[in-house]
Amino acid sequence: MTLLYRVSELPAGVFQRLKELFKAYRAVGALYFWSKRLNLDEGVGLALERAQQLPSYYRHAFDEESRVYQFGEVERMGRPRKIVLQLPLADALHPNCGAYIKDNTLVVRLGNGERLELPLPERALRWLQEKEREVAPLKVTKIVRIQWREDKRPEYLKVQIVLRVERQKPVMPDPKSALLCYVDANSDYGIVAVYAVSDGSETKVLETPKLRPPNRGRRLRAAAKRQAAAAYGHKRGINLALARLSTRFRAKGWVKAAAARIFKKAFQRANGRSLMMNFDIPDPESIKGSYLQKTLLSLEKVADNLAKWFGVYATFECYPSTKCPFCDSELEIVHTRRTRIAYCARCGFYDDRDFVPFYHWCKALGLPMPKHPLRKLQLPEELKLLINSVRPGSPG
Ligand SMILES: [Zn+2]
Repeated sequence: MTLLYRVSELPAGVFQRLKELFKAYRAVGALYFWSKRLNLDEGVGLALERAQQLPSYYRHAFDEESRVYQFGEVERMGRPRKIVLQLPLADALHPNCGAYIKDNTLVVRLGNGERLELPLPERALRWLQEKEREVAPLKVTKIVRIQWREDKRPEYLKVQIVLRVERQKPVMPDPKSALLCYVDANSDYGIVAVYAVSDGSETKVLETPKLRPPNRGRRLRAAAKRQAAAAYGHKRGINLALARLSTRFRAKGWVKAAAARIFKKAFQRANGRSLMMNFDIPDPESIKGSYLQKTLLSLEKVADNLAKWFGVYATFECYPSTKCPFCDSELEIVHTRRTRIAYCARCGFYDDRDFVPFYHWCKALGLPMPKHPLRKLQLPEELKLLINSVRPGSPG
């Protein structure tokens, strides 16, 4: 949940105080982060000593025993963004925390009894309640992140409320009694999901939704125009930036919404079964130049967060889409207007290329192969001939 507040509308002096607090916090945080990362115990000690200068409620961020400890994933964390001030909002109703919610106000404590009060819109309060209900009776840890652009005159204060829930890492369920959900982002298309169940003797595919970002054509045409203008040296920088904007427009929001839909459907389909999900997300190298680019990569983080939130067993493994799942031959591709069909000239297997990794996943889980194709396919004539001509003994 991200909220924006105009800096100019904050009470006089409060923003300055926030900046000072952040300066002090950032210095300690940076020393702590890098010392941890480099295994320098004396640096960690020094950081903790320095932390004594911070208001007491912010020291929880450095307390490994605390639920709002901020450095738990220090080894794997990327470089922390330098303008992020993470204020722990541990227990929203407890005024001893760095930040807390009172009625419909977010109160951020600034030290020396000073506080910054930010009105919380109705939708934020509703969202918080909804989220807490989703994981009840588990307790939600809330973190408030406050940031601003370090310009001379930053316009907005960006306030994010981040929720976390503490739970045990889910164990791998028995694939024979779980709802299987394979999500493939390795596609020009967007995101493709396969929902299936298997009892060990038969693997039944329930649904194969494809999610595609809206208005791709229009946005791409707009971007192409901008790129062409830039190529002619016409306001180059601006046009390139606009081209990037229109291709990536709202893409991240779309990924979030798509991931939420995939999980929701999985819960519906699971109907009480445990869930087993795999997210097949391409490595950054292989999708260079693809229009979805970073957007698809962001699916990993989004899906990981959702899996942790709901306590779902999820893996992030890539399975081949160019190898026949039955005989390991290299698959060939024919393009139809709507689909890329992968087929095996040796054994006659064919299906939408986007579904091929799902077969390999079934194989890896020791499950029987589903019937192919997973959904009805319009085969081009030449492919029909080819497939009918393969030698007998072909599967399916
Ligand atoms: Zn084959």
